[in-house]
Amino acid sequence: MPCCQYCGEKIDEDAVVCSKCGGILVEEDTGWQEFQIQEKVDEAKHRANMYIILAIVLATVGLVAGSMFCASSSGIGFFGIVLVCLGVGCTASADRHEHKARNLKKRLGR
Ligand SMILES: [Zn+2]
Repeated sequence: MPCCQYCGEKIDEDAVVCSKCGGILVEEDTGWQEFQIQEKVDEAKHRANMYIILAIVLATVGLVAGSMFCASSSGIGFFGIVLVCLGVGCTASADRHEHKARNLKKRLGR
C-alpha cells in the first residue's frame, strides 16, 4: 500500500487526495484534467459548507437544550453537551474539506 508523500499516511492506490493531510496524490501524467480537479474542489467545498451548517445546528440545539434542561434533568443536559461536541467535530471535518479544496486549487493554479 502506498504512503502519502507529505505526511506518510497509508493511502489507497487510487486515492486522489490524502485523507489525513489533504495533500494531492495524483501525478502530472495521470491524465487528470482541470475540470476534474475543479469538480473535486467544488465537492470538497460543498461538504465543508454542509459540515459547517451541521455544526451550527448541532451546537445551537445542544446549547439551548443544555441550558434549558440542565437544571431539571441532567440527562438532557448531558445530551446537549454531546450535541455541542458533535458540532465541534463537524467543524473539524469542515476544516479538513476546506483544506482539501485549497490544496486542489493550488494545483489548478500551476
Ligand atoms: Zn498526507
